[in-house]
Amino acid sequence: MTWNVVPGTKQEAGNCVVPVSAIYTPIKTFPSMPVLPYAPLRCRNCSSILNPFCVMDFSAKIWICPFCFQRNHFPSHYASISEENLPAELFPQYTTIEYKSPGEAYLHSVLMFVVDISIIEEEMTFLKPALSRAIGLLPDNSLVGLITFGTLVHVHELGFCSVPKTYVFNGSKDVSRNQLLEQMGFFLNKPVTGVIAGARDGFSSDSIARFLRPASDCEFALNSILEELQKDPWPILAGERSRRCTGTAVSVAASLLGAGFAGSGARIMAFVGGPSTEGPGAIVSKNLSEPIRSHKDLDKDSAPHYHKAIKFYEALAKQLVHQGHVLDLFACSVDQVGVAELKVAVERTGGFVLLAESFGHSVFKDSLRRVFQTGDKGLRLSSNCIFEINCSKDVKVQGILGPCASLEKV
Ligand SMILES: [Zn+2]
Repeated sequence: MTWNVVPGTKQEAGNCVVPVSAIYTPIKTFPSMPVLPYAPLRCRNCSSILNPFCVMDFSAKIWICPFCFQRNHFPSHYASISEENLPAELFPQYTTIEYKSPGEAYLHSVLMFVVDISIIEEEMTFLKPALSRAIGLLPDNSLVGLITFGTLVHVHELGFCSVPKTYVFNGSKDVSRNQLLEQMGFFLNKPVTGVIAGARDGFSSDSIARFLRPASDCEFALNSILEELQKDPWPILAGERSRRCTGTAVSVAASLLGAGFAGSGARIMAFVGGPSTEGPGAIVSKNLSEPIRSHKDLDKDSAPHYHKAIKFYEALAKQLVHQGHVLDLFACSVDQVGVAELKVAVERTGGFVLLAESFGHSVFKDSLRRVFQTGDKGLRLSSNCIFEINCSKDVKVQGILGPCASLEKV
């Protein structure tokens, strides 16, 4: 924290040159941090968690919440609590504590690979084995899916069928979530009367299982799709850039994950090898006579596609934040790919960006391996982290800095 006392008045707060703030790193490992094998005890009024600053009445088995002064009874499993027999969450030296309740279901990780195929043959030969290696490193129970894109978006079915099947979407148009699901044959379950069917409950789980399969089940299918994968077959006309509908592809991935896994962690990993030229989020037109916007253009606000693309990615960021999903970007190209436009969706969802000149570059290959490696060398990725900050009534949260976004709950 920047200060070890909180200013008592508004004027004092105004006099603080550096605002009162705290740096917090989620899932940071502390060697001595206790992990409690039960759920936290919450105040029944403000849902703050039992902590060493609570006032205790051991004889009456009551604790008083320091945030809202609510009196709370200890539940029966705290019956043996006394001054000499404190649960770990009341030890003053534990300023940070983790809870891991046994009943909580831990979902496996869900990964959607979104792969650019509007790249030259040589780049394809670098990218395919790198992806294949990554798939081999996935934990068996993680779910994985594949979308490829160029002129069109292809969603690959990884089901049981021996004939590979893909669903194709026009890259130049934004596909709405309902259009997408209808076209892909998702069946809407009958909503239970009186209950509003949520995004997740409304769709049959069989539908999504065709596209996202446990890594152990579909490694073979995925590898054979990758092996067969050709660069975008659509011709590139003279004087034109290759067609690449990055925005539509990422949006299709987001809608698909939203239909099946809203509220449980999932990542979209986009592998992009050039500028988006097609559909929403395009950063430059197909016409080669139009140069890609430069820093100067962005500075002078004279990049013609910039604001439209930002608007699109901001909406996508919002959708991903509410679904609890992450966008990671692997941008490997000597040309620009449009990170300036895409980054809003990456930053707000806590994803990462990797920049390299080619999918053959060791920066890309080594980083991709580290993403999936376990142990000390791995990045230990996690997703769907929600910060809940409780304060006493005189203190208000002014904002947050970092790779995150507000859930707009007050
Ligand atoms: Zn309270």
